[in-house]
Amino acid sequence: MNRSSSAPGFLRVAVFAPLRQTFHYLPCPTPWAWQPGQRVRVPFGKAQRLGIVLGLDPVPDRDPAQLKAVLEVLDPEPLLPASLHALLHFAAQYYHHPVGEIWATALPVLLRKGLMPFPPETCWGLSDAGRAQLQAGLKRAPRQQQALAFLAAQAGSTPESALPAAWGKGWKSLRDTCAAKGWICAQAPESRAPLQIPPSPFALNPDQTGAVAAIQAAQGFAPFLLDGVTGSGKTAVYLEVIAPLLAQDRQALVLVPDISLTPQLLQRFAARFGASQVAALHSGLTDIQRLAIWSRARRGELAVIIGTRSALFTPLARPGILIIDEEHDSSLKQQDGFRYSARDLAIVRARLENVPVVLGSATPSLESLHNARQGRFRHLILPRRAGNASLPQVGLIDLRRQALQGGLSQTLIKALRETLARGEQALLFINRRGYAPAILCHECGWVANCRRCSAPMTLHQGVRRLRCHHCGADHAIPAQCGNPLCGSPQLIPLGQGTEQVESVLRALPDLEVPIQRIDRDAVRRKGELEAALEEIQQGAPRILVGTQMLAKGHHFPQVTLVGIINADQGLFSADFRGQERLLAQVLQVAGRAGRAERPGQVLIQTHHPDHPLMQALRALDYGAHAEVLLTERELTGLPPFSALALLHAEAQQPPQTLEFLHDAARCLHHPELRAQGPLPAPMERRAGHYRAQLWLHAPRRETLAQALGPWLQAIEKLPSARRVRWTLDVDPVEL
Ligand code: ADP
Ligand code: ZN
Ligand code: ZN
Repeated sequence: MNRSSSAPGFLRVAVFAPLRQTFHYLPCPTPWAWQPGQRVRVPFGKAQRLGIVLGLDPVPDRDPAQLKAVLEVLDPEPLLPASLHALLHFAAQYYHHPVGEIWATALPVLLRKGLMPFPPETCWGLSDAGRAQLQAGLKRAPRQQQALAFLAAQAGSTPESALPAAWGKGWKSLRDTCAAKGWICAQAPESRAPLQIPPSPFALNPDQTGAVAAIQAAQGFAPFLLDGVTGSGKTAVYLEVIAPLLAQDRQALVLVPDISLTPQLLQRFAARFGASQVAALHSGLTDIQRLAIWSRARRGELAVIIGTRSALFTPLARPGILIIDEEHDSSLKQQDGFRYSARDLAIVRARLENVPVVLGSATPSLESLHNARQGRFRHLILPRRAGNASLPQVGLIDLRRQALQGGLSQTLIKALRETLARGEQALLFINRRGYAPAILCHECGWVANCRRCSAPMTLHQGVRRLRCHHCGADHAIPAQCGNPLCGSPQLIPLGQGTEQVESVLRALPDLEVPIQRIDRDAVRRKGELEAALEEIQQGAPRILVGTQMLAKGHHFPQVTLVGIINADQGLFSADFRGQERLLAQVLQVAGRAGRAERPGQVLIQTHHPDHPLMQALRALDYGAHAEVLLTERELTGLPPFSALALLHAEAQQPPQTLEFLHDAARCLHHPELRAQGPLPAPMERRAGHYRAQLWLHAPRRETLAQALGPWLQAIEKLPSARRVRWTLDVDPVEL
């Protein structure tokens, strides 16, 4: 769409701000060939803003005499390929979110601030002299020897930005020395030769081979659900599917829900495809590193890009496949601002790029299972663990009338001792950090609640504070009951958190192994989790106590016992996804057991051993209980059997939220859209604000997307909308 500057029209610009509106500008005084997707600097009120050109319109939104001209055009060409323009356009329509903010989310921070994409960088390769020298050996210069060996092992030339990590400290002088001796030379970066990938180090089993063949047979867009139990070799399937694509010089984008999963995945991809071909984009990078990787992906210099949610928007010069690992994980959905699902948008992107997309999980979301049942996704199943590993044995520990030691049953403690005695590792999972989720007056039952939230304060014994996990409030532990009629000093902890489990373990006699707690209090700084994970990989006996931080796809070969301290929390949740989430979470944690040669054991403590969900856990049968839950959703008309959106409202006083939501419900006139509510939010008060919601049901997602547009326009004009903070969440995953 290259049009000359003389074409009559007005530039439609979305500024990088949370505004629903776009604005018209005059094409700037100097002639230029504009294209949608270029960044521009524009006058905005009294200031200047950066924004993106969305298009050219024949009729301006205001009196042409009032229009201002663009001040500067930053990009000689669009920043993103047409497929991503289409994706962002779709997202704006589907999620009803301001398009300027969507663009701002999709672009690396530095581009949002006006920097330019990086130019191609210098790449290094071995010269003939360098290769000869490497063969002859460099006995007295081991670092130079290692440096040359690294370059020799890379497929193609190596970008300079990969050298600091590969060569370590002093890489610059190493580079200069080797270049001065003529052993290495700068090479043109664009000439990434199609890679010759070595074959897999092990033979795939028949289930894996079948899955690989099915995905490779896809011509263009095709969605797959790779449904494989934990340790079944899903990652191995991704690697095999990607390998031949790289030989065709195409690129793969791999999304994971959690930043902590990127290092180990990066390592496996780098080991297979070469360190210079693979990069990870995640929130732990500096803005400059992010932009460098983004720029290389866009130029087609990287073969595999691994990243968290927002990496979905990375431009690829020659896309070959999209992969979403742990597709069930709710972290793939952004929970504030632009509330998009990276999984759902990945499917849209794959369609736009005309490439296959693979959603992998041991516990697929009900949405994806439903799509597979409906034939929209090809369902590929890996029912067994790969290699020599077998699935763990699962036992339920009936907690009723048992004497507990800080939440631990004698059965669990005995199993723990046996595991450690065998020189193995154990993992105890409890989804609460802190010492206890509440403190209670032993005489009258008073509970110390947060003053600003409808929730109890969590006891943090180590720092001797009460903290609210919802608003961050932090108080000293009161000396006495807060009930003025009581005032008893007998305040006792109620329930358990990781801190309590850790201290109970430390108090057990003759348990002389390291105990490592992994939660957001114990592992706070960048790199601490990675360091902890690395230590665990070393394999010496130890006990890990952790929250869901430990549950996600980590590989702990020495862990043979997994204890779930309290599995009952999600059974009676107010959220209709409570059971689905509990089932997935416990199975994911259970999946950490016995991933290598030694068999694993999982012990689940529960007060409801007869509950069908507990029976499903015992049989490690996700599919069977998922069917039960799907049937329930069908009967109740909830997703995936309908489309759902939530209108959230927050205000200082409850009547304001209710008035707004009632007004909003009255604006709804679409025959296929049904409003339910207003209902108080599951946590009615948070950080001093009252919260309520209106549920909007439609039979299909397309209907919902269409109907919400005009309705939002109507509610934006409501006087009551000014007295609340409101947001719309399409396809909510958390209530
Ligand atoms: P998942 O991604 O499903 O959890 P992985 O791909 O990580 O599974 O595989 C689990 C372990 O089994 C890894 O150590 C992997 O190297 C190994 N593995 C995978 N496939 C095979 C196979 N066909 N033969 C032997 N080992 C395998
Ligand atoms: Zn009391
Ligand atoms: Zn609070």
